[in-house]
Amino acid sequence: MNRLKIVLFLLLFTCSIGCHSNDDEETTIQTEQKNPDSEEEQSDTIENEFETVQNAVEEYGQLRVAGNKIVDQNGDPVTLRGMSFFWSQWIGKYYTPEVVEWLKDDWRCTVVRAALAVDHDGYLDHPEREREKIIAVIDAAIEQGLYIIVDWHDHEAENQLEEAKAFFGEIAKLYGDYPNIIYETYNEPLDVSWNQVLKPYHEAIIDTIRAFDPDNLIICGNRNWSQQVDEPAANPIDDENVAYTLHYYASTHKKWLRDRADQALSKGIAIMVTEYGTTEATGDGFIDVESSNEWWEWMEENHISYLNWSIADKNENSAALKPGASIKGGWPQDMVTESGHLVREQLRSKNPPPEE
Ligand code: MG
Repeated sequence: MNRLKIVLFLLLFTCSIGCHSNDDEETTIQTEQKNPDSEEEQSDTIENEFETVQNAVEEYGQLRVAGNKIVDQNGDPVTLRGMSFFWSQWIGKYYTPEVVEWLKDDWRCTVVRAALAVDHDGYLDHPEREREKIIAVIDAAIEQGLYIIVDWHDHEAENQLEEAKAFFGEIAKLYGDYPNIIYETYNEPLDVSWNQVLKPYHEAIIDTIRAFDPDNLIICGNRNWSQQVDEPAANPIDDENVAYTLHYYASTHKKWLRDRADQALSKGIAIMVTEYGTTEATGDGFIDVESSNEWWEWMEENHISYLNWSIADKNENSAALKPGASIKGGWPQDMVTESGHLVREQLRSKNPPPEE
C-alpha cells in the first residue's frame, strides 16, 4: 500500500507540474497578445470607424479637398453618409425641419441633399415656392449640425446659366460662412462636352459663389448623368475645393463604373456620390443587394461620401418611404420600403446611435 501511495503521489506531482507549466504557457501567450500596442491600436481604429457622430459639423468642421480626398478640419479623410430628398416640385412635402431631424436622429445621417427642381414646373416657373423649400432644409440642417448639399437638379443647366448664377450667388451670400453648405452646381448633365460646355458652365457658377464664399466645397456634375468622371480628371477645374459628382444605380452600374472612378481618383480628383440608388437607373426595378454592398465597400475604402435617392413616398422601388408616410418623420418600420430598410441599416451601422 505504501508503495502504491508513493507511486500515486509521484503521478499527481508530475501531473501538477505539467498542468502548471501549461498554465504558464497560456499566461505567456495571453500576455504576449495583450501586451503590444498593436492590438490597442487596432481596436481604436475599429471604434473610430464606427464612432457615433451626433453633430457632424461640430465633429468635422470646415471641409476641404486634399489630393483625391475630402478631409475634415484636422486634415483627416471624412466620409459623409446620408439621404437625398426628391425633386422639390414633385415631392417637396418632405422638405421639413422634422424630417431633417428624424434623418439625423433615427437614420443617423451626417449629410442631406436638397434637390432644387429647375425644369418641369419647378424653380424657373415658381422661384419663390421652390426656393422656400430649399431654405427650410438648409436652416434645419444648420440647426441639426448636418452638412447640406444644395443641388441644382437639372439635366440642361447650361441653358439656364444666369438663373443658376443668381441662385447660387444668393445662397453663398446668405450661407457661405456656414461650414454646413456644399454646393452641387449641376446634378446630371446629358451627353454634352465637358471641355466645351460643362467646364465653362461650372466655372461661371464657381466665380459667382467664390465672390461670397471663398472656401466651401463645390461638387461638379459631368457628362452622361454624372458618370464620366474621367473627363474632369483629364481637365479639372482650377479651384482648390472642387470635387466631382459620381452617380450610380446598383442594379445597372457595376464594377466597370468603379474602375472608371478608380482611374479618375488615381489622376488626383476627389469624388462625391451625391446620389445613388439600390435599384436600376430608372429609379425602379430590381433592388440589387449584392451590388449595393460592393458599392458601399468601395466607397468606404476610398472615403467617398454617399447619399441615397430618395426621401420620397412615390410608388417606385428606389423610394425610401411608403405612400402616405408622415411629412414630420417618425416613420414606423412598416412605412419604410425594402430599399429604405437596406439603406437605413447601412447608415445606422456606420454611425451607431448613442448608447442609452
Ligand atoms: Mg465658407
